[in-house]
Amino acid sequence: MIANYHTHTWRCHHASGQEREYVEQAIRSGLKILGFSDHAPVPFRNYESTVRMLPSQLEDYVSTLSALKEEYRHDIEIHIGLEAEYYPDLFDEQMEMFSAYPIEYLLLGQHFIGNEVGAPYCGHPTDREDILRSYCSQCIRAMKTGKYLYLAHPDLIYYTGDPSVYRQAMTSLCITAKELDIPLEINLLGIQIHRHYPNAEFWKIAGAVGNRVILGSDAHAPQDVTRAAALEKAKDYIDRNHLTLIEVLPIPGREDL
Ligand SMILES: [Zn+2]
Ligand SMILES: [Zn+2]
Repeated sequence: MIANYHTHTWRCHHASGQEREYVEQAIRSGLKILGFSDHAPVPFRNYESTVRMLPSQLEDYVSTLSALKEEYRHDIEIHIGLEAEYYPDLFDEQMEMFSAYPIEYLLLGQHFIGNEVGAPYCGHPTDREDILRSYCSQCIRAMKTGKYLYLAHPDLIYYTGDPSVYRQAMTSLCITAKELDIPLEINLLGIQIHRHYPNAEFWKIAGAVGNRVILGSDAHAPQDVTRAAALEKAKDYIDRNHLTLIEVLPIPGREDL
């Protein structure tokens, strides 16, 4: 692994360690590029999410990472990103909030549908077709905004219903990603801790569509910046489905975000 763009920090309440420890572990593991992408703040009204940083923490997040980026510039290329949801009602305001900071990229990580509040978590098993379809259409709308570098764990949605419905919905999602040249992430966290994703059926579909893929460690602790133990299994998904792996992505300039 040369690059990992999917790294969390303590601000999301479910990650540990200091940012510096992630950087030093990345250097020791031979990474050339380390992108931080903690769960993005959302400008909710009358609601406080417990799985992401608050808008008031964005300043500290960016300044901490900017200092490390400068300090370690001869050792590793550090990028400042966020893993963001696409919530239609809050999107414009969220982008406005990000524009005040030197954030270099966004990963799309759609963990909830709707606008999160009162909506189901996508990783809970469900046979409801409307939830599957909402997930796919929301990801498709998000990708079409042109704001996201790649789609993290596209197979997070845990649909247990009719396989032909899954195939049809996910084929649309994969086709949109391919048309827009947005890579799909094989999530190494999912492999390592045996989550319901990566979903073998999903990667078969992505292979048939011809998507480009990237590996993301989804590190929530410094020792997980590369997740070497999960690489073999990830390679197996890639080889079996003839997927094209991209290792390094161009990071858009601030003005493009
Ligand atoms: Zn995620
Ligand atoms: Zn993540």
